[in-house]
Amino acid sequence: MDKQSILLISHGHFDSDFLEKIARDVGLQFHLDVQLEESHMDLSDFYYSDRRQYDGNSLLKEIDSLAYAQSIKKVGLFRVDLFIPILTYIFGQAILEGNSGIASLYRLRNEQYGMKKDEKLLLNRFAKIIIHELGHTFGLIHCHIPVCVMRSSTYVEDIDQKGKDFCTPCRAKLDLD
Ligand SMILES: [Zn+2]
Ligand SMILES: [Zn+2]
Repeated sequence: MDKQSILLISHGHFDSDFLEKIARDVGLQFHLDVQLEESHMDLSDFYYSDRRQYDGNSLLKEIDSLAYAQSIKKVGLFRVDLFIPILTYIFGQAILEGNSGIASLYRLRNEQYGMKKDEKLLLNRFAKIIIHELGHTFGLIHCHIPVCVMRSSTYVEDIDQKGKDFCTPCRAKLDLD
């Protein structure tokens, strides 16, 4: 079996320095090679004008349909507001024990909440979301330990309260082969 690796596919403009920092944070958690790729996919097909949001389920399906080796876990990175029918918005989602996830920084930006822009905070939040979604692809479910990255987050404050790391039981369950 090929060695596992992680591919982060950015949609829309991201600063390369920002993406490289994200890739490094992700690589540190999984001890796997992390590659970056840019997508030029047209997102207008995923836009719901009545909600002014983008369909997270279809985007996840789209990422999952991209032809990459089974050994590659891929996460689509977005800047747009994502939703799924049962929720007002999502920070990200992933296929449990699958190969794909999505994450958006739209609702992670301080400006979204009338607060001052904070690049470092944004970077940390986004890294946590991506690591969390990748955790799902590696078979992890939500964890109740407050600082564990697999704790579920409804609000940005929840993300700020947890760390980027997996708790000991979650790390033990991480199926990295
Ligand atoms: Zn989750
Ligand atoms: Zn945990």
